[in-house]
Amino acid sequence: MTEEKLSFQAEVAKLLDIVVHSLYSQKEIFLRELISNASDACDKLRYAALTEPALLAGDADLRIELVIDKDARTLTVRDNGVGMNREDLINNLGTIARSGTSEFVKALSGDQRKDVSLIGQFGVGFYSAYMVAGTVEVRSRKAGDEHGWRWVSDGKGEFTVTEVADVARGTSITLHLKDDEGEFLEPFRLRQVVKTYSDHIALPVVLKGAEGAEDETLNSASALWTRSKSDITDEQYTEFYHHIAHAFDAPWLTLHYRAEGAIEYTGLLFVPTEKPFDLFTPERKNQLKLYVNRVFISGDCEGLLPPYLRFVRGVVDSPDLPLNVSREMLQHNPMLAKIRSGLTKRILSELAKKAEGAADEYATFWATFGAVLKEGLHEDYERRDDITKLCRFASTQGDGLVSLAEYKARMKDGQDAIYFITGESVDALKNSPQVEGYLAKGVEVLLLTDDIDEFWVASVPSYDGTPLKSVGQGVADLSKIKGEEKAEDEAKKDEAPASALDSLIAALKAALGEAVKDVRTTDRLTSSPCCLVANDGEMSLHLERLLKAHKR
Ligand code: ADP
Ligand code: MG
Repeated sequence: MTEEKLSFQAEVAKLLDIVVHSLYSQKEIFLRELISNASDACDKLRYAALTEPALLAGDADLRIELVIDKDARTLTVRDNGVGMNREDLINNLGTIARSGTSEFVKALSGDQRKDVSLIGQFGVGFYSAYMVAGTVEVRSRKAGDEHGWRWVSDGKGEFTVTEVADVARGTSITLHLKDDEGEFLEPFRLRQVVKTYSDHIALPVVLKGAEGAEDETLNSASALWTRSKSDITDEQYTEFYHHIAHAFDAPWLTLHYRAEGAIEYTGLLFVPTEKPFDLFTPERKNQLKLYVNRVFISGDCEGLLPPYLRFVRGVVDSPDLPLNVSREMLQHNPMLAKIRSGLTKRILSELAKKAEGAADEYATFWATFGAVLKEGLHEDYERRDDITKLCRFASTQGDGLVSLAEYKARMKDGQDAIYFITGESVDALKNSPQVEGYLAKGVEVLLLTDDIDEFWVASVPSYDGTPLKSVGQGVADLSKIKGEEKAEDEAKKDEAPASALDSLIAALKAALGEAVKDVRTTDRLTSSPCCLVANDGEMSLHLERLLKAHKR
């Protein structure tokens, strides 16, 4: 059969170069990555077989096998999952750089080098095989196809693809181990690695017995979320989180519960500690894995969770959803809408508990994901109040964060609005002329610096009956507020006779012409001579700048 030689995509080649030369010591994580891929492949096949049962024919017992050949110094990881055809092999293993490829390369070079164990997080886990193998050989046959394919590469710029006969359905990946990596030919070592990193995999991971010895299942092989909470250790939760989220931090929050009633489902949900790299991609997809009675349905089912909770990772399994509808149909299923509503309510209430009971921990969460959660303020009318209560803001008072309830509790006598200003940075805002008058009166101003702030303030007119008002907009009327103003400030106001001011304003208007709508006196300034403000109901200056920047 003819052999085709192809080059790795440039970014992939760079990545491989880094992986091959990595001095990272925990090389065993390659096995976690290959087993995770094998498990995904079996999930995909099971899903496809829902509508096309023939795909499973003759080999319905999905599993992952490890085969050691000490003489050849090879370790093979094989599965009887969905498999890959020629295009899949070429695209997935070499020529199409996945979105995480360059991020991974960046993370591993530069000053703050991260380690290779992060590889799975970036969607490029397969290549970790090159930490331990000189040459990797993949044989695969896609479910439903007659012919199989062989992919081989030493990771140095090129790979070959050849059509081959006699390949079982699924994929087998053979690693020709480097000289120092003999440990991965030892059953005890494989047992240990699988227990540590892959115990939660819901399919059996079987070590094939050498010369007449028995096969041995190395993992628990049951879906973690179906076990009872009391039987699961923190380590097991964390390991599971690492697997499904492709993450390596400890979960900030773990939530495992079973909902019964109108609809039944189990949720095992995690809020990460660290920000996932793709949090702000335009698709704003959630990354919950949806199962129906332990059959994997989708890794990003639209409609399962609102976009403003997309930082949540985990699994949802429900027996009440139909198994035999397409993913697209499922999005519009009324049962799914009920699950979404249940999940949303539960997550928000758990966050509220943290916000109440563990303010410091909550502040860390807020710094990481607050900007995402705030999208809900203008997207989820129904839950706006719940989300508003979860919001925390920097303000002109103190260095900490303040909630709207705290802000209200310390409002000045006569103050009838919650004041805020939007802009680039807390420091710049604290010193901006727009807030001077408020500071002088001791009136607190919230300092909003996330891009999203510009958008939600337009749709949240008030909190608990008190209007939210921008200090950078409209006319400032601070006269009713009994502040801490000193008497001399009062005196200063009267210094310039009205007629002198009138002629100054007339002169300024003449000079500025069309560039401004109006020129007027104000109480919002104490030491700066002037400042720019936007009209009520118009775009704020910061928003104008933001939109201009995005257009470029
Ligand atoms: P990720 O698993 O995050 O997608 P990987 O680098 O681990 O990234 O794998 C790349 C892709 O290669 C997978 O998305 C999948 O399409 C394909 N792949 C890898 N291993 C297998 C396998 N055992 N069976 C089928 N497809 C596989
Ligand atoms: Mg993978």
